[in-house]
Amino acid sequence: MIVIKAGGNGSLNMDAVCADVARLIHQGEKVVLVHGGSHETNVISEKLGHPPRFVTSVSGHSSRHTDRQTMEILAMVAAGRINKLLVERLQQYGVNALGLSGLDGRLLEGKRKDSLRIVENGKRKVLRGEYSGKIEKVNGALLKTLLDGGYVPVVAPLAISYNHEALNVDGDRVAAAIAAALKARTVIILSDVPGLLRDVSDETTLVSHIPALQARGYLDRYAQGRMKRKVLGALEALNDGVGQVIIADGRLGQPVQQALAGRGTVVQ
Ligand code: ADP
Repeated sequence: MIVIKAGGNGSLNMDAVCADVARLIHQGEKVVLVHGGSHETNVISEKLGHPPRFVTSVSGHSSRHTDRQTMEILAMVAAGRINKLLVERLQQYGVNALGLSGLDGRLLEGKRKDSLRIVENGKRKVLRGEYSGKIEKVNGALLKTLLDGGYVPVVAPLAISYNHEALNVDGDRVAAAIAAALKARTVIILSDVPGLLRDVSDETTLVSHIPALQARGYLDRYAQGRMKRKVLGALEALNDGVGQVIIADGRLGQPVQQALAGRGTVVQ
């Protein structure tokens, strides 16, 4: 069982990802594909006259404020266009893909974070009306039913709160949580970089292997911004019994095959 997360920044070779998924399926492997949506949601939000608002949390992390309207645009873009076009492409490769979001069948359930503590112009503020959260439960039985039926689940990064509200959740953490629930052998996180870099501006500084016990140290030393979530997700998945996490380049031809051949950052 392999869980693949293909990032949301628009530069990934999604056709090559789908072709690789098809190859794995035809070899008898079980695969869950998780995708992002943040980049396209930003683009569509601008076009709809509701530009994304990025805020800095009191702990110094930058994140998007997901107000209700943004959440609805995310649902439209991620659970809509991105998810359905991936299903279309996989079907063209002979794979019986089935698209769903974490809302469907309560696939991904978590606690809503309804306000953010932010710093703006040097002042601390509480921003209300947030619709994001952290996944706490995965409906593994639903995924198993789909996988046993021969379907390839394609998962959009939304979850459902305990109060039945749609939530924006991080795709890397979705992949980690699903992999942990299914005790997957491998999680592949494809992004627009070759893996974890010692120097983010120099692609030749790839860290090719991280022993699980040292992942926290690498995270603190090298990972900045959004890469932090990937290494953190890897750490969580390994702690929950996943075999290995490979952070690899999704811009390449045959990105999944290359990742499985060890090209990227292998955390195990
Ligand atoms: P995706 O949208 O594909 O999930 P993200 O944008 O969330 O990808 O994360 C990948 C980004 O993380 C890279 O484009 C890079 O700018 C950033 N990053 C920060 N620190 C590092 C690092 N040490 N090594 C690699 N990438 C890093």
